[in-house]
Amino acid sequence: MPAATAIDVLIAGAGFSGLVMAQRLSEAGLKCVVLERRDHLGGNAYDAPDGNGVLYHCYGPHYFRTNSRAVRDYLSRFTDWTPAEYRVKSHTHGQYWSFPVNLATYEQLIGKPATEAEFATWLEQERAPNPHPANSEEVILANAGPTFYELFFKGYTLKQWDRHPRDLDPSVCARIPVRTTRDDHYLREEFQAIPSEGFTRLFERMVAASPGLEINLNTDFLTARRHYNPRHTIYTGPIDAYFDFSHGHLPYRSLDFQVESFSADQLAAAGRQPISGSPGHWQPALQVNYPNDEAYTRIVEIKHITRQDTPHTNIVREYPLPADDTHEPYYPIPAPDTRLQYEKYRLAAASEPHTSFIGRLATYHYYNMDQVVAIALKEAERLLSPTGPFGAPAGPP
Ligand code: FAD
Ligand code: UDP
Repeated sequence: MPAATAIDVLIAGAGFSGLVMAQRLSEAGLKCVVLERRDHLGGNAYDAPDGNGVLYHCYGPHYFRTNSRAVRDYLSRFTDWTPAEYRVKSHTHGQYWSFPVNLATYEQLIGKPATEAEFATWLEQERAPNPHPANSEEVILANAGPTFYELFFKGYTLKQWDRHPRDLDPSVCARIPVRTTRDDHYLREEFQAIPSEGFTRLFERMVAASPGLEINLNTDFLTARRHYNPRHTIYTGPIDAYFDFSHGHLPYRSLDFQVESFSADQLAAAGRQPISGSPGHWQPALQVNYPNDEAYTRIVEIKHITRQDTPHTNIVREYPLPADDTHEPYYPIPAPDTRLQYEKYRLAAASEPHTSFIGRLATYHYYNMDQVVAIALKEAERLLSPTGPFGAPAGPP
C-alpha cells in the first residue's frame, strides 16, 4: 500500500462547517484536503437550477438570517445579498392562514376584525403561563394556547419528528414566534437575506479563495482517510458513524424532497394567477405549511425570494421520514433521551484532541447556517492561535 500523504488538515464534509474551516486554514497557509461523499459542494445548503433554469434549494429552503456581524462580514467576502422577506402561510381546514400566529390569524379564527388589545386579552385567557416550559407542547400552550396548538403545531410536529411535542425540547417549537401585532415575519433575526447568485456560487467563491485547497467529491472520509496522514482532522459528518455506532445509532430525521417544475404554459393551464402582479408563481407565499391533512409538512416555492426574472417556477414538497442507509440525516432530534445518548459520543470525541468535531451532525445540534459558520470561524481561530496545533512554527522534521 502506498504511504499515506502528509498534509496539515483533513476535513470530512464540504458543507458550511467544512468549507469555512477549509477556507480559513488554507488562507493561513495550511495544506488542507476536503473529502465529501456527495457529488457537490455546500452540504444541505446546495442549490441548483431545474430543467427550466429556475434555481431551487435542493435540500429544503435555506433562509439565511443572523444577528452576528462577524458571520455576515465573513460571508460577504464571497457574496452580495438579496434582502428577503421570509413569509409563510399555514394551510388547514380548507384555507390559508396567516402564520406564524399574529393578529390576522386571530381575526381569521373569530371571523371578524379585532384589535391588538382584544387579541392580547383573549390570548391571556387561552395561554397557560409557564416561565419554564419543559417541552415543545408546554412552550406552545404557554405562548399561543391550545386552540392554535391543535390547529398548527401538534400535527406538524408529529409528522416532522414522529414524536409528540411533549417528547421534544422546548427549543424546537420555540423557534416559531407568536405575536399580537400584524407582524407575520417567520424569523426574528436582524439580517435576513439570501446570497444574490445562490448558495452554490458562494461556496465556489470560498473555494476560489482557498489557496492550495484540494477537494475530493464522491469520497467517503471513513474509507478514504487512510490515504492521508494529517496533523489535524475536522469531522462534520454524523458523530455516531465516526465511532462506528459503538453507542448505538443516534436518531436523525430525514426528508424526501419532491421537486416539481412548472413552465409558464403549465402554470397558465393550471389556472395559476399572477401574484402581486408578478407572473410565474404556483402558490401565494414562499412557504406553505401543512400541519394536518397531508403527508407532507410544507411546500416551498423559493422563487418568491430569489425573485428570478422568469415566467417558470418550481415547488418542493417535504415528506419526513427517519434517516437510514438511503436517506441522509438532516435533523438531530432535540430531546432528553437523545441528548443522553449523544453525551456518550461527546465524551468519546473529547478524548480525540487531534480531531475537531463541528457542525450540525457531528455535535448533534439543531443549528442554523449562521451558527455553524460562527462556530467554524471560532474553531479555525483556535487552531491557528498560539496555543493551538498550528500556532507555533513547525519543529524540525
Ligand atoms: P451539512 O450541510 O449537513 O454538511 C455536512 C457534509 O458532510 C455533507 O455534505 C455530507 O455529505 C458530508 N459528509 C457526511 N459524512 C461524510 C463522510 N463520512 N465522508 C465525507 N463527507 C461526509 N439553516 C438556516 O440557517 N436557515 C434555514 O432556513 C435552514 N433550513 C434548513 C432546511 C432543511 C430541510 C435542513 C435539513 C436544514 C436547514 N438549515 C437551515 C440548517 C443548515 O442546513 C445547517 O445549519 C447547515 O447546512 C449545517 O452545515 P454543516 O456543514 O454542519 O452540515
Ligand atoms: N412547527 C409546527 N408548525 C409549523 C411550523 C413549525 O409545529 O407550522 C414546529 C415543528 O415542530 C417544526 C419546528 O416548529 O419542526 C421548527 O420549525 P421550523 O420551520 O423552524 O423548522 P425547519 O425549517 O428547521 O425545518
